Amino acid sequence: MAFYKERKLWNEKIETLSRDEIRALQLKRLKKQVAYNYQNSSFYQNKMDKAGVKPEDIQSFESFSNIPLMTKDEQRQTQEESIEQYGNPYALMACAPREKIVRINSTSGTTGMPTLYTLTQHDIDVVNEMHARKYWRAGIRPGDVMIQALSLSMFTGGLPLSQGIMHMGACVVPIGIEGGTKRVLDFIRLTSPAAIIATPSFGQYMIEKCPKVIGKDAKELGLKWFFCAGEPGGGNPEVRKMLAQGFGAKIFDHTGGGHAFHGISCDEPPEQFSGMHFISEDHCLLELLDPNTKKPIEIEDGATGEMVFTFLDWEGGPLMRYSLGDILKVSVNPCHCGMPGMRFKIIGRADDMLIIKGVNVYPEAVKTVILKFRPKVTGFFQILLNKPGPLVEPPLNIILEYDESISKAKLPLLEEKLLSIFKEEVRIAPQFEWVPAKTLAREMKKTSFIKVKEFNT
Ligand SMILES: [Zn+2]
Repeated sequence: MAFYKERKLWNEKIETLSRDEIRALQLKRLKKQVAYNYQNSSFYQNKMDKAGVKPEDIQSFESFSNIPLMTKDEQRQTQEESIEQYGNPYALMACAPREKIVRINSTSGTTGMPTLYTLTQHDIDVVNEMHARKYWRAGIRPGDVMIQALSLSMFTGGLPLSQGIMHMGACVVPIGIEGGTKRVLDFIRLTSPAAIIATPSFGQYMIEKCPKVIGKDAKELGLKWFFCAGEPGGGNPEVRKMLAQGFGAKIFDHTGGGHAFHGISCDEPPEQFSGMHFISEDHCLLELLDPNTKKPIEIEDGATGEMVFTFLDWEGGPLMRYSLGDILKVSVNPCHCGMPGMRFKIIGRADDMLIIKGVNVYPEAVKTVILKFRPKVTGFFQILLNKPGPLVEPPLNIILEYDESISKAKLPLLEEKLLSIFKEEVRIAPQFEWVPAKTLAREMKKTSFIKVKEFNT
């Protein structure tokens, strides 16, 4: 038992595969999956027939990229058509017979028809395994109690995640955010949990509310882990520091609910964030594309592109070449935390990409350079466009805040240094407009870095 607890990885055999070994496994599974999808779903059959691709044509990752991409809108539309033809939203896309589908999850999206994930028992076993891999890496072991304070309803993170915790032998208290803050705090008192899973904004809210509701600080709850999910923030150093200080806990960001794309961040200080380890590569093929041309980008250290994923060894509703429009930056070199596997950072949306003299620029890259100059700058900035992107007539206009401790006279020198780093690292020469601290809007959750000037046509 002691040995079992000391083991660092849940599935050592798979999680320590080399890059070549994992790629070989992916290719083997990919060929099988494409044939299965083609055979069992009229949606995929039509899609591939239209593109003139047959399952037997898929002999390499390159040939696989001849299958057209699938988008969320297309999924929604297919669900509508499926309701019309079969009376349920998944018959067209699902590859397993109806009697094998044992769970339907939905994304937490708020607009339009929710997109569904249909799972067989096999798929549920895969998802459970992925959650176990994540929490085990973070150091959770049987005997640890985890408070599940995300939404428990149809949201893919709710029930699947609770099941995954049980699968690895830890103890879950599935309260759900629906219960409200007081209930979450009551159950923390009753069950002495080691960890909580919640959105960063709920964490922040708890830190504020604890003294009033239970008469003590969040730090005194005794939580050792805070797992962020459900919204961006778990990768933001400011948010991480706030949560770490407020709870006196280690902060992890993680992603992946009831589907095949899963990742968890490194065990590292809150002011640092090296991305999330992609722990489900044996069940999820990741491709990176140029968001503009949709041409493949080779996955190597530092590669950045639009993320496209394909479920592997999946029975229910396997998504194939599916794009959510997220931009990922990957690292494949060994990680400082010692854990195996490539890492990724979700750095923005394909819609946010700007093209300046042929150079692709993401707001996140701008932010990375600006943050290097703290505390001389506050870190808050805004990109101001004359007209909507992605094409930008140079120079790129950046409004940024200087810190109160800096005199205006020192700004030209600071600007010179900024410009040289921008030229070196982002390959652009922006034009800066300085504003005093606290001029720009602040938001913890989601900040839009891009603003388009209103103009009369
Ligand atoms: Zn790491």
